[in-house]
Amino acid sequence: REKSRETADPAADSSPKLAASEHQDEAALKKNLCVKAAKEHNIPKDLNKVLENKVMETVLGLSYVKLSIVERTCSGDADSEGIVSKSISSHTDLIPGVYEGGLKIWECTFDLMDYFSEAEIEFTNKTVLDLGCGAGLLGIVALRGEAARVHFQDYNSTVIDEITLPNVVANCTSKGRRMGSGKDRKASKPPSKRPRKAEGSPDVLNRCRFFSGEWSQVSQLLLSSNEPCSKYDIILTSETIYNPDYYSALHETLAQLLDRNGRVYLASKVHYFGVGGGIYLFEKFIEEKNVFRTSLVKTIDQGLQRCIMEITFKNSC
Ligand code: SAM
Repeated sequence: REKSRETADPAADSSPKLAASEHQDEAALKKNLCVKAAKEHNIPKDLNKVLENKVMETVLGLSYVKLSIVERTCSGDADSEGIVSKSISSHTDLIPGVYEGGLKIWECTFDLMDYFSEAEIEFTNKTVLDLGCGAGLLGIVALRGEAARVHFQDYNSTVIDEITLPNVVANCTSKGRRMGSGKDRKASKPPSKRPRKAEGSPDVLNRCRFFSGEWSQVSQLLLSSNEPCSKYDIILTSETIYNPDYYSALHETLAQLLDRNGRVYLASKVHYFGVGGGIYLFEKFIEEKNVFRTSLVKTIDQGLQRCIMEITFKNSC
């Protein structure tokens, strides 16, 4: 496996670009300079280290790192029960304004997991990308469904190191798999306080790769990698269309990384109050680009209205 590499270092090449950019739109340039570089994360050899000091809980038979402990670790304040935005602000990777929500498991993840069961989505031998993965539960479900390869991407490298990777490791151990028999996330199961040792199935991890960074940077890294990957049969993405400013990068990433006959399963709230994004705005954006066909395959009406959208290339078979 290749060592971590960065496709872009905005700080390193900012001066020449600035010097040559007299006629460029300053706002657009600023935006580019803020784009978070992409990085591939190595899987540590000693898997027990990944789970060290992690407290786990379970949901729908899957283990996940207890969030408040990560918050406290990140903030360096063992007594603080501060909210995410407070505690992440003192961590170098998670500066306010550039943290994109991956520390929390958002409810559309559960909608998409329900949909996988209802629609009997097949992951066997598929190459899968969990885009904007956060905890990575969608990718973990695909791994358990015998996907050939699962790649995880989150904006923040801290989320990958402290949450996604430990969750994958926890769910890839033989004990973790035995825990997978639980069905109902509402059933009050006592949290399993300390993670068991990661003693099994490192082969599963050979089917995984982990990336952090902004979408366009990550797709550039994937496409230019010395370890090139074929395009994805399935891209899973939950609660990633809240901000219309990101639609262009997201659309381009899907267009670049999805196999011609691949399928995107996107779960989203119908509308994100405050930020302005939502399923109909994204649907309209896609329509205007004229690259993909969309279909709303499920609507969930409890609480805030939510949807599952299936996206395929217009010229797919
Ligand atoms: N999918 C997870 C879930 O449902 O629990 C996390 C959802 S969180 C609200 C949004 C995710 O999208 C974050 O994990 C973040 O990393 C990713 N994301 C949002 N905007 C992004 C961008 N412009 N580039 C890369 N990743 C982005």
